[in-house]
Amino acid sequence: KDMIYKNLGNTGLKVSAFSYGGWLTVGGTVKGDPVKDLIKEALDHGVNFFDTAEIYSNGQSEIEMGRVFKELDVDRSQLVVSTKIFFGTGKSDPNQKGLSRKHIIEGTKASLKRLQLDYVDIVFAHRHDAATPMEEIVRGFNYLLDKGFAFAWGTSEWTAQQIQDAIGIADRLGLVGPCVEQPQYSIFHREKFEVEFKPLFDKYKYGTTIWSPLAGGELSGKYLNGIPENSRYKTNPEYYEQKIKELESPEGKKRQDKIRQLGEISKRLGGTGPAALALAWAASNPNVSSVILGATKPEQLKENFEALKLIPKVTDEVRKEIDDLFENAPTP
Ligand code: NDP
Repeated sequence: KDMIYKNLGNTGLKVSAFSYGGWLTVGGTVKGDPVKDLIKEALDHGVNFFDTAEIYSNGQSEIEMGRVFKELDVDRSQLVVSTKIFFGTGKSDPNQKGLSRKHIIEGTKASLKRLQLDYVDIVFAHRHDAATPMEEIVRGFNYLLDKGFAFAWGTSEWTAQQIQDAIGIADRLGLVGPCVEQPQYSIFHREKFEVEFKPLFDKYKYGTTIWSPLAGGELSGKYLNGIPENSRYKTNPEYYEQKIKELESPEGKKRQDKIRQLGEISKRLGGTGPAALALAWAASNPNVSSVILGATKPEQLKENFEALKLIPKVTDEVRKEIDDLFENAPTP
């Protein structure tokens, strides 16, 4: 196994540089035995961290993951499991979502039941909740830690200011602040991570578990010649309307050509294609604790783990080449 393990922020937890998540896939487009094949593939490559959320396939993602951990008889102490609370499970009751103390606690208990686990390692606030005072949010998550329902808590798609506020309030109350953010980050989506979050990394060693590292699959180059059957743009078009429309536009064509060129750089460095380099680019960023992979087939995971070999090859020169190709490096 050539997996690398990184520190998850300041928690002492070690997470695999590549992890596996279940949005749209586990319990959605993938159910039953194929989920086991995917999780087994990930474990075989040294993945120790798995990410899900109460909202993923309305709870089915947690159910499928939990079932597979049981069936594979994985040693709990070797696993780092996270779930995310905020969106509920698709129910419309106003109290079955958000970050009230009620939903933080009830939602997490329900997630644990679906996962068949006594605790998750990390519980994320899946979004910020402006309707709940920050002190209440901090106290809600600390209750989970005190009860042993989770070991650490984090944020997802919060602003740097909101994260600083939560840490400040936790400090003032002698409570535990959030220690990890789950943000979108890829070659196509850099600004917030690299600029807004920089002080969090410098000041708190804030951890990150990044999502959509392939921009939903686009950076694998799978959409270079149209939309293949069974691909995410076909199975879940509602999330990619804009991207699908853009594929036919001059802008979109230009972007696909850049992805093709990224594939050429990857091959020059010994990689299999654009996915491996896009993933190595993200994983080699010291402020990224774990790159969450999505995959519907074990072969995709296999290809994506090739990125591990490319990590040492992502030198400053290669980063510069990628900056010049995509022309979107944020100005610090
Ligand atoms: P990616 O950007 O890596 O997209 C993954 C998808 O791309 C796969 O499901 C597959 O879709 C396709 N793909 C992956 N590898 C390959 C390959 N080698 N060749 C061809 N196609 C490939 O990540 P996700 O968008 O799935 O996000 C990863 C995880 O991040 C989620 O599972 C979830 O845990 C987390 N997340 C968190 C969010 C948050 O708000 N906190 C939001 C979104 C995700 P297909 O086969 O269907 O085309």
